[in-house]
Amino acid sequence: MKFLIINPWIYDSAAYDFWLKPLGLLYISSILKKEGHEVHFIDLMYRHDEELEKYKNIKDRYYGTGKFISKEVKKPEIIQFIPRKFKKYGLPEELFEQKLKEIGKVDAILVGVTMTYWYYGAKKTIDFIRKIHNDTKIYLGGIYTNIYTEHAKKTFKDLNVKVLNGTGLIPIKNMLKELNYDLKEYNWFEELDPDYSVYNGKMPYAVITASIGCPYNCSYCVTHNMWKYNYRSKKNLIENIYNIKEKWPNLKNIVFFDDAFLLRRDLKELLKDLANIKVNYHLPNGIHAHRVNQEISDLLKNANFKTIKLGYETSDPNLQKNTGAKVTNADLINAVNCFKKSDLDLKDIGAYIISNLPGQKIDDIYNAIDFCFDLGIQANVNEFTPIPGTEDYKKMVENKQIQDNLDPLLLNNTFIPYWWDKGMTEEEISKIKLYLKKKRMEVKNE
Ligand code: SF4
Repeated sequence: MKFLIINPWIYDSAAYDFWLKPLGLLYISSILKKEGHEVHFIDLMYRHDEELEKYKNIKDRYYGTGKFISKEVKKPEIIQFIPRKFKKYGLPEELFEQKLKEIGKVDAILVGVTMTYWYYGAKKTIDFIRKIHNDTKIYLGGIYTNIYTEHAKKTFKDLNVKVLNGTGLIPIKNMLKELNYDLKEYNWFEELDPDYSVYNGKMPYAVITASIGCPYNCSYCVTHNMWKYNYRSKKNLIENIYNIKEKWPNLKNIVFFDDAFLLRRDLKELLKDLANIKVNYHLPNGIHAHRVNQEISDLLKNANFKTIKLGYETSDPNLQKNTGAKVTNADLINAVNCFKKSDLDLKDIGAYIISNLPGQKIDDIYNAIDFCFDLGIQANVNEFTPIPGTEDYKKMVENKQIQDNLDPLLLNNTFIPYWWDKGMTEEEISKIKLYLKKKRMEVKNE
């Protein structure tokens, strides 16, 4: 069969290519190819698309990250009251149309959505696809359809889209069954690499994952609902990196999208092997600080790890404990001291802080920012968003702090402070951002 996989446009008030690659869709491409199917792939968020670069000068910034092309668009009705610009990010329509026409007729199209509030971009993308493929079967999957299955069915009904849910092989198996093809169970995560052969232009970074899931149970996080923690064997993982390097010899950055990179048993051996491949490694997803000791830190330095983000979220010991006990202030101090002794560059090291957590005091955020700056690392503050299925979401609905079944667009973390009257206001969040900016400037000028 002939398949077309599409990573859709993003519609949001802000988006940046901070190592964004549609890993799930790249795995689906590998799964379908392994079965012998013909697969075409359009990544509308690929900044280095060969065709695009013919007329647009695309610049990379920090380790291959960079700005997406964007244009301002009309806001959907439900977020009209939010005083922020709304933009469409990704490849221009003309280029998308050209690609669709070149690929021609296909048996089925698959579209994937990660962030729940990016469903709107998928809807716009499928609206566009339907102008050319008006009766082709279209399937939609991803984190959004898993969390908001009913919303997805309703929203995409008029576009005649079939909603897939489940993780791993389940959605693909169900899709193929409908197309009269039987997919046998196997350990796809162990056996397959994400399919980087689908890209035609430059590749300043590649995103991979050494593990899926996380054994922790944090109250604001949905990872543990979706995946059972599992890590890929060192041998296959190293081969994966060599395979990517073979296709992209100038590739400089390998980004691990793991939620629990440091938790694997053979971590030390893996870090020793990674040191033999000459690239920069990055851990942007908030590692577990309590797993860092001097030996691990030295191995990270020796393997050439650059960006390391620690999962911190709050400086309040009670809140740390009540949200899942993944970290303490002492863990963070110890990890950073180890990094300093290993001579890792602290400008690439930071900790994530969540603002607007249920029950959080404003002072906690300022304290957390000061704590990070006093340690000499960056602070990255992100607004909390309640995700259906998480403990926090359930409690908030029970306590009537939010309504169930809200449009995911409203739950965009940037928009929540504009309407959620039980949490921090937009003014308070803006003040925190200004404070953070001031701290960063102070460090820069030192
Ligand atoms: S440790 Fe991180 S990935 Fe694991 S449950 Fe907590 S927030 Fe989620």
